[in-house]
Amino acid sequence: MTPTTLNQTGTTMAGTTRLSVRNIRKSFGTHEVLRGISLDARDGDVISLLGASGSGKSTFLRCINLLEIADHGEISVDGELIQMEQRGGKNVPANRRQVDRIRSELGMVFQSFNLWSHMTILENVIEGPVHVLRRPRAECIAEAEVLLEKVGIAEKRNAYPAHLSGGQQQRAAIARSLAMKPKVMLFDEPTSALDPELVGEVLRVMRSLAEEGMTMLVVTHEMSFARNVSNRVIFMKSGEIDSDGAPDQLFGSGGSPSFRQFIGNFGG
Ligand code: ADP
Ligand code: MG
Repeated sequence: MTPTTLNQTGTTMAGTTRLSVRNIRKSFGTHEVLRGISLDARDGDVISLLGASGSGKSTFLRCINLLEIADHGEISVDGELIQMEQRGGKNVPANRRQVDRIRSELGMVFQSFNLWSHMTILENVIEGPVHVLRRPRAECIAEAEVLLEKVGIAEKRNAYPAHLSGGQQQRAAIARSLAMKPKVMLFDEPTSALDPELVGEVLRVMRSLAEEGMTMLVVTHEMSFARNVSNRVIFMKSGEIDSDGAPDQLFGSGGSPSFRQFIGNFGG
């Protein structure tokens, strides 16, 4: 059976649309946390998502990779629309297999590194490719070694997560996501749990990923990353996009008064 792929827009003059979000809404009880968010990320876009605590940033990322199901709206990954249906008055994914596949195409890196503590770093990195993608183990190990080299922790391949610093664990988590060859990488405050002296090593890995052309959506409070690495900055306020533009423009004079107040708190 052929997968139910809806090839909608696919490519545009400016490059392939890797992620398209249309008018996402999400409530918890009576609290509407996302109030109609739309976003397109093209191949190689690095989008920093900024906003105060509680503005809905994590919920937005979680809706994109279907850890939460939006009440309303559409999401497409690499031109494939995620199919939804109404069941018992609720919006639910219509096709479980599509959900699993789409999830495997979206890398997610969390604030807490979420490595398997009973597995070595190498085992963590090959887990997805071997068990989810069912690829040959030897091939996955060879690729994992290249990835661990790339994130600078090749010598930790046989160590357990507890024996790594936070920065090393987060770099391992990034390698683990990359091992799935994701189409888009989602980062939710990847450096917020780190001691300040470990933040730079993780940001450097993210910067090199950006320079290689990875499509990235990054929730961060690192203003230097937002300004200097991303090509687009989105500022969320109360579940809506308040400001959206190129970093030079927004950090210049283009942002809204709320955005200016927000970055003022970071000394920006
Ligand atoms: P941010 O990441 O910008 O800090 P979140 O997306 O985590 O914001 O949260 C936005 C709002 O949604 C907050 O008020 C939070 O308490 C609420 N919220 C998030 N997840 C849940 C949930 N599972 N159940 C109820 N409320 C939630
Ligand atoms: Mg959050």
